[in-house]
Amino acid sequence: MTIPTLQLNDGRTIPQLGFGVFKVDPAETERIVTDALEAGYRHIDTAAIYGNEEGVGAALAKSGIARDELFVTTKLWNDRRGETAAREALGESLQKLGLDHVDLYLIHWPTPANGSPVETWRTLASLRDEGLTTSIGVSNFDERFLPEILETGIVPAVNQIELHPQFQQRAATELSAQHDIKVEAWGPLGQGKVDYASTVVGEIAERHGVTWAQALIAWHLQSGRIVFPKSNRRERMEDNFAAASVQLTAEDVAAIDGLDQGAAGRVSADPAEVS
Ligand code: NAD
Repeated sequence: MTIPTLQLNDGRTIPQLGFGVFKVDPAETERIVTDALEAGYRHIDTAAIYGNEEGVGAALAKSGIARDELFVTTKLWNDRRGETAAREALGESLQKLGLDHVDLYLIHWPTPANGSPVETWRTLASLRDEGLTTSIGVSNFDERFLPEILETGIVPAVNQIELHPQFQQRAATELSAQHDIKVEAWGPLGQGKVDYASTVVGEIAERHGVTWAQALIAWHLQSGRIVFPKSNRRERMEDNFAAASVQLTAEDVAAIDGLDQGAAGRVSADPAEVS
């Protein structure tokens, strides 16, 4: 199966469908990421705070897959702000991953309580220029936080934000699009906290003979977003991967768009409150 790629604003390409490892037990990560690679995934989304970069790295090394066929993202945690700390943090992540560079490095949260992220953001640009990460971006920088980053003149390649049908983040998505910043939707399935099977998503899935999760992933892909749904279970990994070949109609996409509840649809933390 061919996974579509998107071109980032720095000229690089990213596989639009990947595999996320939030809450994947470090002791099980090597096996689970090995399963994901065998299922066909080539894009892995991890973070320093997940504590499982070593398991990701072990699975990548064991797979024998050429480095240039892989796309690996990790993220800078909130307590590693400023030039020195951020540099050290990426170095530690690379060591755990067993890589000499990642494909994408993100500031994980804006953490307004910790002061401005600008120095850290400029440091990420230096790390990119030095080749330690190919692309750089931000995560959880909605329309309240993205403008300060944009004022630096260094435009993120991606903005990774919570996004699923009942929480579509229209303001953050529009601001990102104005600057050709690709949106990565985290929690693309609502983190299993929303019964999307009982909504119009379930009806659409039934009509296409696919699962509700596949219909949702197809909705994200056809809307131009990058997604990396997480599952520990091999059959669900395969199911989610196969969603790349599901073709929804424009009416299906519009019907799912209609589920947006604005801020009331959020199922996880508000970036203004994370420190
Ligand atoms: P998700 O929306 O991918 O939901 C995962 C849950 O959905 C699984 O635990 C499982 O219960 C269920 N699920 C998965 N596939 C299914 C299927 N085919 N059928 C039925 N149920 C299924 O949520 P997530 O893991 O939080 O988000 C995906 C990735 O996004 C993470 O693994 C991580 O890489 C990233 N993420 C980033 C941030 C951030 O702050 N940047 C926050 C959360 C997650």
